[in-house]
Amino acid sequence: MEKQNIDWGSLNFEYHETDKSYVSNFKNGSWDDGELTSDHTVTISECAGVLQYSQSVFEGLKAYTTKDSRIVTFRPDLNADRMIDSAKRLEMPAFPKERFIDAVLETIKANESWVPPYGSGATLYVRPYMFGSSAVIGVKPADEYQFRILTTPVGPYFKGGAKPVKLKISNFDRAAPRGTGHIKAGLNYAMSLHAIVSAHAEGFNENLYPDSATRTKVEETGGANIIFIKGNTFVTVKSPSILPSVTRRSLEYVAEHYLGMTVEEREIPLTELPEFEEAGLCGTAAVISPVGSINNHGREILLPSGMDQMGPKIQKLYDTLTGIQMGTIEAPEGWIYEVK
Ligand SMILES: *Cc1c(COP(=O)(O)O)cnc(C)c1O
Repeated sequence: MEKQNIDWGSLNFEYHETDKSYVSNFKNGSWDDGELTSDHTVTISECAGVLQYSQSVFEGLKAYTTKDSRIVTFRPDLNADRMIDSAKRLEMPAFPKERFIDAVLETIKANESWVPPYGSGATLYVRPYMFGSSAVIGVKPADEYQFRILTTPVGPYFKGGAKPVKLKISNFDRAAPRGTGHIKAGLNYAMSLHAIVSAHAEGFNENLYPDSATRTKVEETGGANIIFIKGNTFVTVKSPSILPSVTRRSLEYVAEHYLGMTVEEREIPLTELPEFEEAGLCGTAAVISPVGSINNHGREILLPSGMDQMGPKIQKLYDTLTGIQMGTIEAPEGWIYEVK
């Protein structure tokens, strides 16, 4: 398969149209057979549920070229499960798990020439999403839905090395205790835009949200879970209002089974922040983005790993998980799906 003639290393995390997208429609109570399409536009009613009341959910995963030139993707079964959970919370029909996985593999296959080569640092980002497509004016769930998968090549997240990021404990709330923080829905992102633009204007890279009920415990950032290192212990947040990150859950396994670390998933009070040696943000986009400092309402907490590079334990976690994804380290059973 001839690859596209692109300078892969210069790509950013921006939308770049590829060959095919996948589309399936839900009508009269069931999903149609679905198909690949070259039409990268969507035509819907001006009164569609997604446009009026934000009824939409999404997922994000990646396709990689391994060292021995196979094209693979990482744990799409977990994205399928999570999208079903997200859909249920917004009263949308679930897109069946096996069909989700097949559609992801089929869409990657159809865009094979867009999967960046091994060693380029770039990957093909895969974005499944679903939205209410029929007209709704009274507040209720739509009757019809569209499930789509788009792909777009994205560049190496860190150009010239992973620079630790500066976080601030946000004055805004991200997720109510019994709200929608645990699902991957556009509505969680729409309301985070003002907070992120404000944080950037103040010189921070990201907001670290505290729990909304007490504002005393760590939750996550707008689009990534947070992990901490204390000695040989990997500490991460347990909360019903954070998004269950596939990357974070995979790193917990890697920490325990590959690196012999102790893993704790628990509540983390803000007062404990100065006790950690390293921290990182984890999600599909960056895998792990090291944290250099956290500003807690004017008090600057500097992680001992510093502002120049990843700390040693976070680096080991990063190298091991990316090695598993790129096929240089043996993966646990069922983590890697080959695109045939
Ligand atoms: C998508 C997302 C993450 C990261 O999840 P991954 O499955 O690791 O990509 C973390 N937090 C939020 C709020 C997210 O939307």
